[in-house]
Amino acid sequence: MTRYLPTPSPNPPMDAVPFWDWCRKRELRFQQCAACGRHRHPPAPVCRFCGSDQVKWDAAPEEAELFSYTIVHNAVTKELKSYVPYNIAVVGFPSLRVRLISNIIDLSPEKIRIGMPLRLTWQECDDGTPLPLFFGEMS
Ligand SMILES: [Zn+2]
Repeated sequence: MTRYLPTPSPNPPMDAVPFWDWCRKRELRFQQCAACGRHRHPPAPVCRFCGSDQVKWDAAPEEAELFSYTIVHNAVTKELKSYVPYNIAVVGFPSLRVRLISNIIDLSPEKIRIGMPLRLTWQECDDGTPLPLFFGEMS
């Protein structure tokens, strides 16, 4: 499989370190408040619903769908020039009420549709960290 985009810069925010630790195990997990049970993403130190700082890391469900996306045609850096056009996808997990910014791979831009089912896959960065990416499921 060819790489979808170049390796992103390292050093995620501290609250996101456990997220990436799970990714290294190829497990997509989201923060869940241990007090009220609501999920959140991106990771944050405190629940915005109840204020608790107690968290669990809950496995993402199999079902995801495309909430929104954009197609990038103008590379903002020289490293991205060979990748345009590429998509930036907002992947929704309706049962958890969270969304993840990612990419849809192996699908031409004209076939991408809001609401389409998505299937998780992993693609390793140069440093070996697996990134959660998605296949678009054609209906
Ligand atoms: Zn809460």
